[in-house]
Amino acid sequence: MKSLNQSTVLNVIRLKEPISRAEIAKLTKLTPPTVSSLVSELIDQNLITEEQASSSKAGGRKPIMLRINYSAYYIIGVYAAAEVIRGIITTMDGKIMFDHRKDIHELPSKDEFMKLIIEIIHFILHQSKINKDSILGIGFAMHGLVNPDKGTAIFSPHLHLTDLPLKETIEEEFNIPVTVENDVRALAIGESWFGQGQGIPDFICLSVGRGIGSGIFIHNEIYQSSFHTAGEIGHTIIDVNGPKCQCGNNGCLEAYASESAILQRIVYEESNNPDSLLVHWLTDDKKELTIKLVFEAAKAGDPFAISVLTDAGRYLGIAAANMITLLKPSKLIVEGTIFEEGYFILDPFKEMIKKYTFNSSHEVIDVVCSSLGKTGMVLGAITLVLQKIFNPNN
Ligand SMILES: [Zn+2]
Repeated sequence: MKSLNQSTVLNVIRLKEPISRAEIAKLTKLTPPTVSSLVSELIDQNLITEEQASSSKAGGRKPIMLRINYSAYYIIGVYAAAEVIRGIITTMDGKIMFDHRKDIHELPSKDEFMKLIIEIIHFILHQSKINKDSILGIGFAMHGLVNPDKGTAIFSPHLHLTDLPLKETIEEEFNIPVTVENDVRALAIGESWFGQGQGIPDFICLSVGRGIGSGIFIHNEIYQSSFHTAGEIGHTIIDVNGPKCQCGNNGCLEAYASESAILQRIVYEESNNPDSLLVHWLTDDKKELTIKLVFEAAKAGDPFAISVLTDAGRYLGIAAANMITLLKPSKLIVEGTIFEEGYFILDPFKEMIKKYTFNSSHEVIDVVCSSLGKTGMVLGAITLVLQKIFNPNN
């Protein structure tokens, strides 16, 4: 994108389309000739299109209206976690044109991981047959600590990798601008564009999977702090004598309430619960222990499975209540399989928030499940690029 004014005009068209040149001038406070010339540039770039308005005011000449040409260009989004890398290509309004996921079974080395990322981007470009020149940017949502300014992954606790030069390596290979962000912060930005965060100036996105993280939206912007590492709720301490966490500390929330923590607790307490249906499935039927299986046992009424899930829900609820008390968002968006599998986690979670949030009766905080679900992170990666195109402040 060439100039700040171009982004401003594009963003007004996005928010108000169809819109005339005169209305753009009014809303942006740019002069009509400036708007005209910016609009011409955008039309030349094929980023917007003109159409005749269907009606006119007071029988005058019908104005020419402008719209974003969403399918003229594409964006690549990549989401990398410890167990999966997913790559998508979308139009500028987030319509997924191509979707590819690759499961990771063994921990890759730094070089292997970078090679895998490059291969996946080559693969989606090749398979989708989309011309590289029509790709506006690559957004990268990476789990763990990330420096978006440098475009590096500082520390990936689940992959056991440090200092990955994501931006530099991918830009060198593809010659397309790359934006890197932490996965949960990308998810929160994704929610603000396409999901439950639309039109909400202050909300928190809490994501629970193999790890636990949060994205904090304040005054319509993601909060990063000067260190770019804000929101690591998963590594706030519940008990210094608690179980070991992937980060090296003891007793982090993540070591109590992540999917991995839930599965680990089942394994540790298996022998104390010989009558449990879940334990019967694991030992006699040799079923594989997965988070879905724990929920299946809970649904069948297994008290062991129910109590483990309830405890995890309580820990998460207490952590969320602390966060809410501190930041007072108007909405809390939760994402993760454990929230989608019914009330075993969600009920104790909401109960703790209700009980332990310090607030007055008129403060209503909406707790909702993400509508983007598993696609949220990779769509979030797309919005990293959209933000650069449409938001002049970014
Ligand atoms: Zn930790």
